[in-house]
Amino acid sequence: MNRKILVTSALPYANGSIHLGHLVEYIQTDIWVRFQKMQGNTCHYVCADDTHGTPIMLRAEKEGITPEQLIDRVWHEHKADFDGFHVEFDHYGSTNSNETKEYSQAIYRKLRAAGLIEVRSVEQFYDPVKEMFLPDRFIKGECPKCHAKDQYGDNCESCGTTYAPTELINPYSAVSGAQPERRNSEHYFFKLSDPRCQKFLREWTRGGSLQPEAANKMQEWLGAESENKLSDWDISRDAPYFGFEIPDAPGKYFYVWLDAPVGYMGSFKQFCDREIKEGRPINFDEFWLPQSQSESGMDARRQGGGDADIPVGRLGAADAANNADAPSVAATELYHFIGKDILYFHALFWPAMLQHADFRTPTKLFAHGFLTVNGEKMSKSRGTFITAGSYLEQGLNPEYLRYYYASKLNGTMEDIDLSLEDFVAKVNSDLIGKYINIASRCAPFITKYFNGQLAADLEQPGSANGLLKSVWAARLQLESYYETREYSHAIRLIMRLADSINIYIAEQAPWARAKEGGEYLNPSHEFSVQKSCSISLEAFRVLSIYLSPILPILTKFVADFLNVPSSKWEHASSTFSLHGATIKPYQHLMTRIDQKQIDAMIEANKESLVPAPDSHSPARHAEAQQHAIAPIAETISIDEFSKVDLRVARIVNAEHVEGAEKLLKLTLDIGEEKPRTVFAGIKAAYDPEKLKGRMTVMVANLAPRKMKFGLSEGMVLAASGETPGLFILSPDDGAQPGMRIK
Ligand SMILES: [Zn+2]
Repeated sequence: MNRKILVTSALPYANGSIHLGHLVEYIQTDIWVRFQKMQGNTCHYVCADDTHGTPIMLRAEKEGITPEQLIDRVWHEHKADFDGFHVEFDHYGSTNSNETKEYSQAIYRKLRAAGLIEVRSVEQFYDPVKEMFLPDRFIKGECPKCHAKDQYGDNCESCGTTYAPTELINPYSAVSGAQPERRNSEHYFFKLSDPRCQKFLREWTRGGSLQPEAANKMQEWLGAESENKLSDWDISRDAPYFGFEIPDAPGKYFYVWLDAPVGYMGSFKQFCDREIKEGRPINFDEFWLPQSQSESGMDARRQGGGDADIPVGRLGAADAANNADAPSVAATELYHFIGKDILYFHALFWPAMLQHADFRTPTKLFAHGFLTVNGEKMSKSRGTFITAGSYLEQGLNPEYLRYYYASKLNGTMEDIDLSLEDFVAKVNSDLIGKYINIASRCAPFITKYFNGQLAADLEQPGSANGLLKSVWAARLQLESYYETREYSHAIRLIMRLADSINIYIAEQAPWARAKEGGEYLNPSHEFSVQKSCSISLEAFRVLSIYLSPILPILTKFVADFLNVPSSKWEHASSTFSLHGATIKPYQHLMTRIDQKQIDAMIEANKESLVPAPDSHSPARHAEAQQHAIAPIAETISIDEFSKVDLRVARIVNAEHVEGAEKLLKLTLDIGEEKPRTVFAGIKAAYDPEKLKGRMTVMVANLAPRKMKFGLSEGMVLAASGETPGLFILSPDDGAQPGMRIK
């Protein structure tokens, strides 16, 4: 039966690059979606950038652009990274959309009407200079425990203690440097503690929608029947804020909970509208209204278009009830792939919110663990905080990583480790040494001696026949592994099959028989060379179908070379076997990983540990230091030179520094999450206005330096000589911020 499935992955925040930790989830989801599609199921995969909030607003301000410009730029970066790893969304949207806004407001209105919204006064730190309430991460001060200076408002990076921002000693605003005041403001809360939510969640979390370990965790969070352990959720923030205003509450905005996940719906709505325009109607309500309602066919009349104009606010049961005689539709399924860190939210808050706003709840949540690299947390200083972009820039094939992650992933929330040594070994010895090896060994004989023609009969008594049978028969087992996200089991089974095929090839030794005949094959050997190679290539064809969800591009090349249509899951059977088929000449399918590429990738991701920019901090009172131009120094080796990490930088902002005779304050973008601040002694030579927007070169791994006016996080290179004048460097056109200069 054709299933109708909607799948989402968590929405990445539009304030940083996609890294290999993120990719665990997108690759896991993409494999599952591709498998469902190969099975002939209708499966839609949508996602979006999560674009709202104070960090985005402040970062845009710092870069001198609007938040819309910032999120547009990041959207393109994220999309390019996902495309680069063959993560194939049916739609990749943005939470900053009319669709998301309308659903957020519709959900909010429903919750309010149900008496599940409450307004309360909350005391928070307020920046009197910037005139805004400060999120915890934007308050700094002295750790109340170990007294380390300049710690964030939520935890100390020095001793690891977590605390409330109000506990910090001598707190200051990381935005303006001002001493924050405590102020009260009205916040909006979703009453998760309401008995209706409690009752619903007790049932829902036991209803099979969660992995067993997640369901147990939820019982812990929910507590015993008599307890009420859930607390209400703050869903609002005060202006200035980049996001959606709350209806009838001027100056109040939806905080992340009531806008980010609603992006699942907003993005899917955009997808539906696009498909309708293309003549492929998809029924939004069928996937988002409770099954009884969508089955009663509220949308049958909408099919074929027009629903783009119907206001979202009217969504709900009342409408559905008016339309009793429409045809019924198959039950749809909704799955959210998420990291275990957002489980609490997706398993409690989100279903409670959907339920009480008359939407459907998810069929299942699939939570996964975190990624470690070489057994440790990803680290910028070790170079293991690896961005998707830097992986691709090294020329590393994205399907290596897809394969490796698949070989590690299962249906639980366990963490997975990317051991780089194991990564190289597994790709080279298993993927290439076992799987690709089958084709590269057998296909050339078929081309050379048989004009590409395979044996007409693949039946053979004895072990060979058993071999193909076991390859075909693995289909059902693999189906269940994919369905339950036990990809590591799937890979193990596929590699066991590859092993047995390789043993068969070694036994048959077509090369030895071919060698005897020289340019022309000994007629007495023709049969067995053709047949053994044909059997092996048929087995290879079937393994390729099994690997298709994981290796979509490679297996497309395989299908092309074997002259078979791009594969469906059901093609992995004897009915579709290659007997008597003609294949194209074998062409190189995949290269081994070169350890040098891994080393280069690590090097490219290494960063010196630079404290977050806080150049306005009143705590800084170090003496000003001047940059000296060194005379030509003694000869150094290339290794010594390569210690200096020179980067192309875009001057995002340049300004005079009050009280400084020689310095300009530069804000430099070198492709990192936050721009760097550098005080450069170039005031005499440059008008700051003329520097804005131009590209230059900076030393990116210079130890940060405290100056009278703030922290300088690097150095801009400039030329000077005996005659007056100072000249900063420019790269040629085309260079991008963050490129390394070697
Ligand atoms: Zn501390």
